[in-house]
Amino acid sequence: MIVTRFAPSPNGSLHLGHAYAAIVAHDLARQRDGAFRLRIEDIDAGRSRPELINEFLDELAWLGLRWDGELVLQSTRLDAYRAAGERLKEMGLLYPCTCTRAEIAAAATRTGPDGPLYPGTCRRRPPSDEGQAAWRLDMSRATALAGSLTWFDEIAGEQVADPARFGDVVLLRKEAPASYHLAATLDDAADGITLVTRGIDLFAASHLHRLLQALLGLPVPRWHHHPLLLDDHGRKLAKRRGTTGLSALRLAGEDGPGLADSLRSGRFGTGIRLSEGLDWLP
Ligand code: GLU
Repeated sequence: MIVTRFAPSPNGSLHLGHAYAAIVAHDLARQRDGAFRLRIEDIDAGRSRPELINEFLDELAWLGLRWDGELVLQSTRLDAYRAAGERLKEMGLLYPCTCTRAEIAAAATRTGPDGPLYPGTCRRRPPSDEGQAAWRLDMSRATALAGSLTWFDEIAGEQVADPARFGDVVLLRKEAPASYHLAATLDDAADGITLVTRGIDLFAASHLHRLLQALLGLPVPRWHHHPLLLDDHGRKLAKRRGTTGLSALRLAGEDGPGLADSLRSGRFGTGIRLSEGLDWLP
């Protein structure tokens, strides 16, 4: 049996791109007699808007998508993230970093999937105030410990994990006990996800998540990175660029299951198309 998931962040309203992602995860589970889980990624206190959560649930129901099991809120799992962080610290794999974004941007010479690659400033520096620090993964140590790893994407096939492209990535944030990467990896394991379903824009993240699974002894799922809905400029759909939100469509009395069926059959609407291949980048 497979277990898939849809894991939206309540930072903004859902739009057609989210509907497509939810449908892919839902339909893969239904086609294979599996389960479809729903997780709300709400640990970013600065951006998270709790009032959106009920809206998300209404929209999924309107589209005719039913999830299995309990709804998971990441904000209820902070202790588990802290515990994993402590474990990685005990393994000597994390170090505190007090650099500001501006300092990193000024010193970085390369860019990784999440932005400027950390130049390693705090790696050899005695910590001044750990309470105010973010904790970074010492990537060289971590990859040396984990050795060579592979992972499997249902569309792209077998991959040799290359987490080093993230450099010394932040795993424990200053203002939250986990970064997206750590929280999502722990949650996929805790929720028994066997097929991590998400958009191709997060393909690179799976290199890092595979490493975290190895370091923390977590089960290794398969992945299904689906194409993205793009606008007529080839950009990922975004509310701020004028993509209509699902709530507006629902409140206007549109037929939700009908819209879901249109997306399933590739009728995305004027000017909207699906990305091709693995080369879509933000
Ligand atoms: N929360 C992420 C988003 O809304 C998705 C993360 C994931 O699927 O792993 O884009």
